[in-house]
Amino acid sequence: MAAGISITKCSRCPKPAILHQEYSGQHLCSHHLFRSIRKRVSKELRSQLLLPKNALHEDGSPFRILACISGGKDSAVLLDMLVDIIGKRRDVEIIAGCVDEGIDGYRAPSLECARKLAESLSIKFVTLSYSEMGYDDMDEVVGKMPIISGKHDEAKGLMPCSYCGVFRRQSLNALAEKTKADVMALGHNLDDMAQSILMNLQKGEIERSVRLAPHTSTPIEGLAPRIVPLRWIPEQEIHAYAYAKGLPIHHGDCPHANGAMRQQSRSIVASLEAQSPGARHGLLHALDQIRELHREARGDPHSEVNNCEICGEITSRKVCQSCTMKEWLAESA
Ligand code: SF4
Ligand SMILES: [Zn+2]
Ligand SMILES: [Zn+2]
Repeated sequence: MAAGISITKCSRCPKPAILHQEYSGQHLCSHHLFRSIRKRVSKELRSQLLLPKNALHEDGSPFRILACISGGKDSAVLLDMLVDIIGKRRDVEIIAGCVDEGIDGYRAPSLECARKLAESLSIKFVTLSYSEMGYDDMDEVVGKMPIISGKHDEAKGLMPCSYCGVFRRQSLNALAEKTKADVMALGHNLDDMAQSILMNLQKGEIERSVRLAPHTSTPIEGLAPRIVPLRWIPEQEIHAYAYAKGLPIHHGDCPHANGAMRQQSRSIVASLEAQSPGARHGLLHALDQIRELHREARGDPHSEVNNCEICGEITSRKVCQSCTMKEWLAESA
C-alpha cells in the first residue's frame, strides 16, 4: 500500500469498507453490505408479498413472480435477491421478463446482459418488444413526436419517456398475462422512489403518488399487482452490490433520456440527501403516511378504474393512454 493512503475499515468487522452509509454513519465491507441489503429486502418482501406456507395454486401450479429486468443494475440486484431469498421454494416460480423498446445501440446489449443474468441464475427468460405489442419502436416514436405535438394539444410537452413509460407499462402487463404471473416485481430503488414522490407532489398529484407501487394491499382486478422489494435501498448501495457481486450489467444510458423531468428530480434528490442525509427515507416514509391517510379518507385509490373502450385494458379514462398514443402514431405514419 502506498504511504499515506488509509483504508477505512468496516464498522462491523476488520475488513476494508466498500461503502459509506452517510445516513447511518456506518462503513460496510462487501460481506456486510450484502447482509444488510438482504435483510432489508427480505423484510420488505415479506411485508409486500404475503405468501402462505404453501403458495401452490389449486391446480398444483406454482405462485409465479415475474421479475421485470432491463439489463441494468437495479433489476439485476432485484432478480439476484429474489432468487437468493425465495428461489428455493418449490411452490414459487420466478420468471425474468424484459421489454424491448426498440432503441438502437442501447437495447440489444442490455437485453444480452439481462439474458445472461437470468441464465446464470437458471431462471426462465422471456421478452416482448414494442413492435410485437403493435407500437412503433421508440426510435421511430421520437421521430414522429414533433408531428404529433403539432396536431394534439394533449401531446405538447411530452417527452420520449412519457410515451415509453405508457408502452412499457402495457407491455409488462401483457408479459405478466402471458407468463400467468401472480405478481410483478420491479427494481425501483430508494432514489427512484424519492424522485417519483417529489415529481408527483410538485405537480400536486396526490392521487398519482398514492398509486405508486407496491400494490399488493390494493390490487386492481385483472392486473398482476406490482411489488418493489428494493424500494428502501439507495441506488449507490445497489450499484456497489452489483459491482462487488460481478452481476452482468449494461452501463450505457438510453439516448432518449435527456431532458426528462426525472433528471432534474434526480439532482434535487441528490442535493437534498447530501445536505440532510436520510432525506430520501423521509420522503418515502411521508408517502406511506399520506397513502394511509388517503386510504382512510377515500378508500381504495384504484376504485375509479374502468375498461378502455378500444383495448379493454384497465384505465381511469374512456380510452386508455396507450390506445390514444397508438392512434397518434398511426396517423403520423
Ligand atoms: S429513458 Fe425514457 S425512452 Fe429511454 S428506455 Fe427509459 S423510459 Fe424509455
Ligand atoms: Zn464487514
Ligand atoms: Zn386501450
